Amino acid sequence: MREGVTNRGGVAGEGSATRTPVKTFQAYLPPAHRTYSCIHCRAHLASHDELISKSFQGSQGRAYLFNSVVNVGCGPAEERVLLTGLHAVADIYCECCKTMLGWKYEYAFESSQKYKEGKFIIELAHMVKENGWD
Ligand SMILES: [Zn+2]
Repeated sequence: MREGVTNRGGVAGEGSATRTPVKTFQAYLPPAHRTYSCIHCRAHLASHDELISKSFQGSQGRAYLFNSVVNVGCGPAEERVLLTGLHAVADIYCECCKTMLGWKYEYAFESSQKYKEGKFIIELAHMVKENGWD
């Protein structure tokens, strides 16, 4: 599945799923964790531990809110009026296959929505569950 990519050292250590946006190689989440992967290329996207909420709605149905993601690139932020008010959001895409996955909340203008700032939405239609799910 991963032929040709042997350089996985120094990428996946404990708690390293941080927000370094540009990576040449795919990042790997710890294998024992339940993870969500890109349904198109199987790149890891997020750990289940980083899941905040399942009750979001994307353009193609249900979407999940994550605290942090990996292998995800970010487009330019723009202001959009969402169901919950005005936000500055940026489209996010899979770094490996460039598929648009969802969006990132850069800024929330409503104080009740501030908790979403810096968080990521990935639509369920673009994710597959891997590792240890019952
Ligand atoms: Zn992908």
